[in-house]
Amino acid sequence: MGVLTGRTALVTGASRGIGRGIAERLGRDGARVAVHYGRNETAAKETVAAIEAAGGSAFAIGVELGVPGDAEALWEEFDRHADGLDILVNNAGIGSARPIGEITEDDFDRVFAVNVKAPFFLLKHGMTRLRDGGRVVNISSGLARTAVMPDNVAYAMTKGALDVFSRDLSKVLGARGITVNSVAPGIIDTDNTAELLHGSPDGWARAAAYSALGGVGTPADVADVVAFLVSDGGRWVTGSWVDATGGSLT
Ligand code: NAP
Repeated sequence: MGVLTGRTALVTGASRGIGRGIAERLGRDGARVAVHYGRNETAAKETVAAIEAAGGSAFAIGVELGVPGDAEALWEEFDRHADGLDILVNNAGIGSARPIGEITEDDFDRVFAVNVKAPFFLLKHGMTRLRDGGRVVNISSGLARTAVMPDNVAYAMTKGALDVFSRDLSKVLGARGITVNSVAPGIIDTDNTAELLHGSPDGWARAAAYSALGGVGTPADVADVVAFLVSDGGRWVTGSWVDATGGSLT
């Protein structure tokens, strides 16, 4: 029996990277996990297989986010597999590393559609499915609180908006005992950061130097923080911004 036995969790963008790490951890803790993905069905099936191999239970649902009707389509697919949920982790997101002088309106709209609009409408349409006492975790970024990478301004703005969403939603859902928090990773070794970390000979060392702990984070480093917030131990933490940057903001 794990601490999440009997609970159902949905992790968006769980086919790869941080989302996969979170899905595997929640699966190990006993939750039945909906492994959401956008396009990479093979990778999502690998996440499901890894959860099952560890003795857990999971299913994959594929829906492109950032397009009109995405949230309703995702819930329709989810409802085919499960009857309500206890934990929603809004993790799916994309980067945008073009400076303000180069970014186009389409680039801007796209990053806001995936990183802000999709989580917002997933909650709007998912609140009735979320059971009392549930948990919402929005995956933010340390870049919402530091300007060390100003070329990522549009991306950082999406995470700032997501943090405001976490804060205000905690008041909306608090009466039902549902907590809502942002978890902000620093630089984590995923496909998203492959160019930053491996694109130049000193990329890894420069990234590691941001952290007070002198390293680059792993998906498991973030998943462990999420696991605490969604467990019973996290019941009195809501509306908060949890720094999971390995001390990159100090
Ligand atoms: P990643 O390795 O690129 O994985 C992204 C995941 O999101 C994949 O499962 C992908 O699905 C899904 N996804 C992306 N766009 C989608 C779309 N339009 N519709 C549906 N699914 C979509 O990313 P990551 O590095 O793990 O990042 C995960 C989250 O952490 C993001 O919100 C990111 O902003 C945040 N974050 C990351 C870092 C970091 O250093 N890596 C730091 C701070 C915050 P497919 O596999 O099907 O494409």
